[in-house]
Amino acid sequence: MIRIRALHKYYGDNHILRGIDLDVKQGEFLVILGPSGAGKSTLLRCINGLVQADAGELQAVGFDAMDTRQYRNLRQQVAMIFQHHNVMLRLSVLKNVLTGRLGQMSVFASICQWFSTADVELAMDCLRRVELDHKAHARTDALSGGQRQRVGIARALAQKPKVILADEPVASLDPKTSRMVLHYLRAACDELGITVICNLHQVDYAREFGDRIVGLSGGKLVFDGTSDELRDSALNLIYSGTTFPQILPVTAETNTSTELLVQGVAS
Ligand code: ADP
Repeated sequence: MIRIRALHKYYGDNHILRGIDLDVKQGEFLVILGPSGAGKSTLLRCINGLVQADAGELQAVGFDAMDTRQYRNLRQQVAMIFQHHNVMLRLSVLKNVLTGRLGQMSVFASICQWFSTADVELAMDCLRRVELDHKAHARTDALSGGQRQRVGIARALAQKPKVILADEPVASLDPKTSRMVLHYLRAACDELGITVICNLHQVDYAREFGDRIVGLSGGKLVFDGTSDELRDSALNLIYSGTTFPQILPVTAETNTSTELLVQGVAS
């Protein structure tokens, strides 16, 4: 589904991605975990051509993501969800979701925003998936932050993508709402077979929702494994030299050595 080899990206003199090798299978829910500035967002943006990598190979859903001529077709198959949801606040919820169809429509139909009945039915179905169909005709600025992010997910689903890239989708949400948003993304993966690649900096969400977790640190992949394999030694590698991002609630079930790690890394 996605094949990345020796991928490099520079911003000026800053070497951001330093030789990334990564394969992602169809239907996988992959979490990219790493501290702020590790290059997670840059990597996601390279996958759908929002940012062009400087060297290496990057194939996604049958397209060459290093070739700008393939970006339009690539982006039809690869939807993106952003931290700040990027929904249009003055539009209705339904209109926002329908914008997910624009890439599949003719230029003329998209300029006139002539959505077919089938498009409207699809948009309503996507809203049902995130349990917001009852808000279809509400203005989006009347929704909470979590609800706006759910609109962002419904819009991504309306695109009928093969892959959803989610860039820190819960960074500004409270824990309960964050879990709800991640649950809908997980359901898109499980029920629709959509490959999800989700950037997170919260270790406990990565463990809870990811089939597989890769750790990015200083532009390099330093961990690749399951949530069970994401032990303290791996977290030390991913977050070495940084303040640990989120302290797991320590219960009888959770490993108290995480506390030691937090103290050790942050001090
Ligand atoms: P993360 O998502 O892990 O927080 P980013 O990919 O956003 O990391 O950023 C990695 C590094 O690249 C950071 O040092 C950031 O300042 C830098 N960076 C990101 N976008 C740009 C840009 N458009 N121009 C210059 N530097 C950038």
